[in-house]
Amino acid sequence: MKMKDVLQATSFRFNKALGQNFISDTNLLKGIVTDSGITPDDVVVEIGTGAGTLTRQIASVAKQVYSFEVDQNLIPVHELSLSGIDNLQVIFRDVLKMKDDEFKSIVGEGEFKVVANLPYYITTPLIMRFLESDLNVTSLTIMVQEEVGRRLVAKPNTADYSAITLAVLLRGEGTITRKVGRNMFYPAPNVDSAVVRIDVDKDKLAGENKALIHKLVRSAFLMRRKTLVNNLNASFGLSKTEAAEKLIAAGLDERVRGEALSLEDYVNLSHQF
Ligand code: SAM
Repeated sequence: MKMKDVLQATSFRFNKALGQNFISDTNLLKGIVTDSGITPDDVVVEIGTGAGTLTRQIASVAKQVYSFEVDQNLIPVHELSLSGIDNLQVIFRDVLKMKDDEFKSIVGEGEFKVVANLPYYITTPLIMRFLESDLNVTSLTIMVQEEVGRRLVAKPNTADYSAITLAVLLRGEGTITRKVGRNMFYPAPNVDSAVVRIDVDKDKLAGENKALIHKLVRSAFLMRRKTLVNNLNASFGLSKTEAAEKLIAAGLDERVRGEALSLEDYVNLSHQF
């Protein structure tokens, strides 16, 4: 049964507040699964089951799928769209509100990949929820607003380079795998999208103080047009002279802005604290 027919047959009413823009194009669904690199050995966590179109494609490749959804009005839809898939468990819980232990009690302790066509307003909290946790996530393949996608993979000294770019770089590497026009969704949102894959490397920068580096990054981008000296002065309670000394000791110009610093620069700067 086609997705629109399932939605009609079950009189499903879209909840805009939950970012419900569904995908039914088979080529796109298969493309997302290919981009995620899922193999028959993989446990996959999907966030946002929706009508289950992506879920079905993931389950056709993966070993086991745990798909999290918050809208229980989708239950009748799933009865039509997801029945008979035996390597799938749909869980009506908000992953953002679950503790790691609760999550592990469902998904297990082993490695897993995240795949999601996300409601855009939870993109950043969701990425951070997985990157900052002790959970065994190896990659996240997520549909995001195109401009957010550019931010996730940006280079220093560009308008898109931001705190989230560095948050990703601290723990892995992001790539835009495809752009997706708004007309590929039902109903169509107001913006175009991109699929981004973040490969997670939990050992990256092992031994470095990531919490401090993160704090430096947040401080640097708090007021991105200000110099780093001014931002460090505001967030770390350093005098401007002390802040300038730390920048110089890290091999940086004392008038530099945070948006010009590479990850390596932030790591070097953290050594001065
Ligand atoms: N995966 C489906 C697809 O590709 O067609 C649905 C995508 S839709 C953009 C996002 C889905 O996430 C919606 O079904 C919405 O109800 C669900 N959702 C919203 N907030 C959520 C949350 N915090 N946790 C899990 N699912 C959520």
